[in-house]
Amino acid sequence: MEKKLITILVPTYNEQEVLPMLYERLTKLMNQLPNYNFEVLFVNDGSKDDSLNIIMNLRSKDSRICYVNLSRNFGKETAMIAGLDYSKGDAVVIIDADLQDPPELIPEMIKYWEEGYDDIFAKRRSRKGESFLKKFTSKMYYRILQSFTRIDIGKDAGDFRLLDRRCVEALKKMRESQRYTKGLYSWIGYKKKEILFDRDPRAAGKTKWNYGKLINLSIDGITSFTTAPLRWATFFGVGISFIGFIYMLYTIIKTIIQGVEVPGYASTMVVILFLGGIQLIFLGVIGEYLGRAFYETKARPLYFIDRYNETKETNQNK
Ligand code: UDP
Ligand code: MG
Repeated sequence: MEKKLITILVPTYNEQEVLPMLYERLTKLMNQLPNYNFEVLFVNDGSKDDSLNIIMNLRSKDSRICYVNLSRNFGKETAMIAGLDYSKGDAVVIIDADLQDPPELIPEMIKYWEEGYDDIFAKRRSRKGESFLKKFTSKMYYRILQSFTRIDIGKDAGDFRLLDRRCVEALKKMRESQRYTKGLYSWIGYKKKEILFDRDPRAAGKTKWNYGKLINLSIDGITSFTTAPLRWATFFGVGISFIGFIYMLYTIIKTIIQGVEVPGYASTMVVILFLGGIQLIFLGVIGEYLGRAFYETKARPLYFIDRYNETKETNQNK
């Protein structure tokens, strides 16, 4: 029987310190699994350091290494879809370059894949090397996001997973530009299996995330998944209007009974400021969705690539 091909997809941005270590761990793993063919596909996401050269060197030594070089830095979400577009495997394993996702878990993923699961994802049991604040905010965020939607968003599961070819094809169909891939994995469905692991701290190099990026990703997560905040705005508006109406009746009746009363500056100001604030917040919420609609209607390609292995890309037909 023909051996199955497994693509190991590595989004890479300024990872020169870890790439040699990663390669070593991956080769060890690939040698342990002689019944499969492997393709290690690096997506170089516009690294400013030596990552691309290191990858090209690896390729000259080892033909299992492939790479896609993006025309600039597009972010991990886009790097992943680029990788899925260029992957050839019957299954694709997405793994971070920094060895926070232990490659040693891949054989177990393959085992479940052979048993018929389509999406085997690794769920963190612990998060070593992450601050209390990061853990706490992440927990709260998932709780909120989950409360919005019936679809089960894998809490504590990242992008480290094995995807069957049909999941890959499904993900490739979703060409939205503000990608929240974590939600998409759940959205496409198929047979899922979770395995638990302890997430290691980054092996070397620095994290590319900061709170600004995380906040943006969180907002993308909510706005790409649900329009619940818009509905909240409606409910809130109805609630406030009702209170306002009652207050109006009260004021009219009071004026009829007691005559015109001049003082009342403080209460008027309070109401104006409060409602002004609420209106601005929900204007912002509407703006978020309008902005997303704006980006999606432009329907720009998700990325451009400089080269795939040795071939320089000119026609971007993916
Ligand atoms: N990454 C990327 N493009 C970016 C930022 C990150 O391809 O713009 C890659 C990075 O090289 C790594 C993975 O995404 O393989 C996860 O990044 P990082 O380890 O910095 O994130 P964290 O683990 O801290 O969430
Ligand atoms: Mg990391």
